Amino acid sequence: MTELPRSSPEFEAWFPDDAACARWLFERRWPDGFRCPACGHDEGWELARERLTLRCAACERQVSVAAGTVLHGSHLPLRTWFLAAWLVATHKNGTSARQLWLQLGLGSHKSAWLLARKLRRAMVDPEREPLAGPVEVDETSLPFRAEDEPARPGRSHDGELPIAGAVEIRGEGPGRVRLAVTGDYSAASPGGFVAGDIAAGSTVVSDGWSGYARLKDVEHDPKVVGETPAHLVLPRVHRVSANAKRWALGVYRGLREKHLQADLDEVVLRFNRRRTPHAAFDRLLGLSLTLQPATHEMLAVRS
Ligand SMILES: [Zn+2]
Repeated sequence: MTELPRSSPEFEAWFPDDAACARWLFERRWPDGFRCPACGHDEGWELARERLTLRCAACERQVSVAAGTVLHGSHLPLRTWFLAAWLVATHKNGTSARQLWLQLGLGSHKSAWLLARKLRRAMVDPEREPLAGPVEVDETSLPFRAEDEPARPGRSHDGELPIAGAVEIRGEGPGRVRLAVTGDYSAASPGGFVAGDIAAGSTVVSDGWSGYARLKDVEHDPKVVGETPAHLVLPRVHRVSANAKRWALGVYRGLREKHLQADLDEVVLRFNRRRTPHAAFDRLLGLSLTLQPATHEMLAVRS
């Protein structure tokens, strides 16, 4: 599976109901047919179609296709999860809890908010490697509006939230990206951000901020800006910052300091997986980590 639906009608056709989602999970988990994770037997009986639970024909253990994923044990329909993950993975400018609420037809805004929060928690890979090699680093700020002030084109904003961005230099283009809240709203200083998110031995390419020169484990290659516009000196990180700013201005209710890092993680996930939205989808549903080896935790022990 290296593809995702490219449009809403295509999504409807792929995943018309919970049974279709369960079938899709089954094929991801057992591309060569069912195999019992407890005893290795290759024959099982379907117990429930909507959430696809099987019982091993030999040892009678019950196995759920969703075990070990974010879907397991949720009271929400599989299809709701699939649609939410698909929207978040494929929408250029992201989806707020409110948008999810409207698009998923969920009963309460609170269930949409909980769903959005679970998806967000899945977005940061705890074992992700720090950026490496030559890395462009820059600081910028995102415009924010006060609460309950809807977006209006041309309207001036209420303030700026300082962030730092880092982008790997891969030939002409960008490699992987990180964004972090800095300044008054976070404990992280730009230097701390570099130390935490960029591997030792890397080269930091910046606009010459002297703080980077004091960093111990990375080389510093300051580009003196002078007369040259910054976007020509640090083109990759400026592209990513511009992206984040466009996104920030489109956030329905404006940015909240409290949620900003989670929001930035979402921007980063979409950027880092921009050519492989199916990988973002997998990540959001918690599939990429759990669907490979059949471990003990995958067994459905509830009967
Ligand atoms: Zn078995």
